[in-house]
Amino acid sequence: MLIILLGPPGAGKGTQAERIVIKYQLAYISTGDILRGAVREQTNLGRKAKQYMDQGQLVPDELVVAIVKDRLADPDCAEGALLDGFPRTVVQADFLEKALPEIGIKIGKVLSIEVAEEELIERLTGRRVCSECGANFHLKFKPPKVRNVCDLCGGDLYQRDDDTLETVKERLEVYKKQTEPLIAFYEEKGILSPIDGNQDIEAVNDQINIILEKI
Ligand code: ADP
Ligand code: ADP
Ligand code: ZN
Repeated sequence: MLIILLGPPGAGKGTQAERIVIKYQLAYISTGDILRGAVREQTNLGRKAKQYMDQGQLVPDELVVAIVKDRLADPDCAEGALLDGFPRTVVQADFLEKALPEIGIKIGKVLSIEVAEEELIERLTGRRVCSECGANFHLKFKPPKVRNVCDLCGGDLYQRDDDTLETVKERLEVYKKQTEPLIAFYEEKGILSPIDGNQDIEAVNDQINIILEKI
């Protein structure tokens, strides 16, 4: 079964994903993480994707769809997976609709994490990420025990290039135009569960667990 995490940048998708994949033993697919890996390794994909990511724009559908198609074919996804940050456009959602019957998995739930815009800006500009394991921290809301050091693996924390105020504002606009329509798309299919993301990390996690335990 597939679980999809939908929500604006900074809603807490990655933070909740860390917990969901452990509790429900799901394979984890974050298109953002895969793309940042490709940029770091300077692959062909990475070179193409970087220009869009730096501007706060979405990477073209055909590139992202190809990534997800490949990843879903991996053996660890046979039982299901958690999709974080995909789909982000109607074209990507249509691709999933067509591809899933062939692969033999269904979408169990789309968790739509909703957070007020001012809060998103504060979350994104204060976000820090582990350079080794990708874990998320926040200067104010989830500070690491030792400054700039990952609690989980001891790796150095860094600020993402696209978490500057200017790019954050652009990403929020892009979300509204290109991704928000997916809420209605999945609502019509009867598989959308709205999650109140304006609560602390544990409370959001509790709300998600109540929903996932029912499917
Ligand atoms: P997304 O993957 O949706 O972009 P993240 O999970 O990376 O979001 O969260 C963005 C930032 O906000 C991170 O720094 C994270 O530590 C912090 N954060 C996540 N959830 C909450 C929450 N419920 N309350 C406060 N801060 C949060
Ligand atoms: P956040 O959750 O903070 O928005 P992500 O790590 O999910 O960030 O994505 C970072 C960037 O990677 C996006 O701004 C976009 O450029 C690119 N990206 C990630 N997922 C997709 C996708 N499904 N379609 C297009 N671009 C994507
Ligand atoms: Zn780490």
